[in-house]
Parts: sequence; C-alpha cells; structure tokens
Amino acid sequence: MKPIRLSIRNTGRDGRSKDRGAAMKHPHLKAYLCLLLAGVVLACVPGKKGKEAPVDSISQWAIHDMARPAPPVVDPGPAGLPAVPPSDAIVLFNGRDLSGWEDGKGRPAKWKVEDGYMEVVAKAGSIQTKRGFGSCQLHVEWASPVEVKGESQGRGNSGVFLMNTYEVQVLDSYDNITYADGQAASIYGQYPPLVNACRPPGEWQTFDIVFHRPLFDGEKKIARPARMTVFHNGILVHDNVELSGPTSHKIRPPYVYHEDRLPVSLQDHGNPVRFRNIWIREL
Ligand code: MG
Repeated sequence: MKPIRLSIRNTGRDGRSKDRGAAMKHPHLKAYLCLLLAGVVLACVPGKKGKEAPVDSISQWAIHDMARPAPPVVDPGPAGLPAVPPSDAIVLFNGRDLSGWEDGKGRPAKWKVEDGYMEVVAKAGSIQTKRGFGSCQLHVEWASPVEVKGESQGRGNSGVFLMNTYEVQVLDSYDNITYADGQAASIYGQYPPLVNACRPPGEWQTFDIVFHRPLFDGEKKIARPARMTVFHNGILVHDNVELSGPTSHKIRPPYVYHEDRLPVSLQDHGNPVRFRNIWIREL
C-alpha cells in the first residue's frame, strides 16, 4: 500500500493537487481528515462545565448528583426500647406535650401528640425548641409512616436541624432510591451517610448527633466550620465531618454569621413522620 501524503500545499502549476490521484485511490481519506480535524478542534476547546462539574471543598460530587454512589445497606437489627436520657440531659420532648416547642413564628407548635410521640401535621410548619443551643450531643428517635407513599424525597421526609440551619435528613430510605446526599442520615446536600442503616417504615430509629457549632471571628466571618459526628441506629454514619456551610436544596451556600445558640428544629416536609424521646446535652 502506497503511503498517503497529507500535504495540502503540494499543488502543481495548474493549482490542482498532485495528491488528487491518491485521494481518488483512497475514497475514505477525506472523511478521515475531517474526523482528525474535528478531534483536534474538540481537544482544544475548553470543557464546558456541566451539572457534574462543580468541585468544592467537601466533595468532588455536584450537589444531589444521582450518579454519586449510594452507601451500602447495613441491617441495624430491630429497634430497642427508647434510650433513657442521662441525668445531665435536657429533655426536649418526653412524649407528653410540645410545651418546649413553637413554630417558626413563635406560635404554639401544632403537631399531633399521642401515645408518647409527636407527628408532623402537614402545613402546620416546622417546629423548633423555644430554647437555643450551640455545640451539643442530641438524641432523636423517629419513624417514617407505616403506609409507604411517594418515592425519593417524597417518602417520609422530615429533618433534624441543628441551630435551625444544619440538617440531618430524615427520610424513609428503606428500599427507596434518591440522591445519596439526601437520603436518611445524610447531612443534607453535603455528605451521604457512610452506610444506609435504615429500618423499615414504621419502626423506630435513632439519631445520635455530636455537633460542634461554627465559630465566627470579630468581623463575623467564619473562623471554624461546624463539625458533626452522627450515629444512625447505633451505627457510625458521619465521622467528625466538616460542614461547608448551611445545608440547603440544590446549593451549598457559604456560612452566614449567626448567634452562638439557636433552636433545634424539626421539619414539616408534608409527610406524617413521628418523633419521640428527644434529649440534648450541651457541650
Ligand atoms: Mg428533610
């Protein structure tokens, strides 16, 4: 096979390519050259930043990226009895009333209380403790509805917010596919849990959260980010991770100055999630 000459300057006096014969003998040459040229052009064009492109201080994954691997499932075993609050704990909910809670506008909390638990009442709004807290150890027990309704983020969604700002997600993640950074026990939008330790719908589950609040300097700029360690049903799911800022939907916003103590809040996401036996130890 004759070598194919690629020069386009090697023209004769009549202006016609001397390689015309070669091109005629190799009918795929033109197409080959076009593809080669296209490849060179594409290689030189800077990559467009797509949905998966953003990389920030905490993750190579874009927020809510469905391609982010789901954590492995671990069976935590059956639910035990409610954890007895230690003697130095502040009991936030003892199963009897919502006297320590209010809605976001300071009005009485309107969630249902019966049989030792409280239940989200859709559109009653999220509720929060009347008292503020900073760094703490927080124990919360919750159960997603027995009747499975909806999918992904629409199934058993609620949330536990530290300082009204940093959410540990409550969701029915038992056989329910959603984005990894939004499943049960995720630090919403930032960290998927290390494992999926969800119990079936209707069964009581526990969160034990160690939270170190962010510190701000004299100019109200972030000086030390918040950190969290979380156990879901007794299993470690976050090991002293650093939060990039407030948790949010679709964005990872930067820190915004706030007070040293703010309420713990529970989210009304429209699903009748139940809570019981909530206590806190200040750190
Ligand atoms: Mg939520």
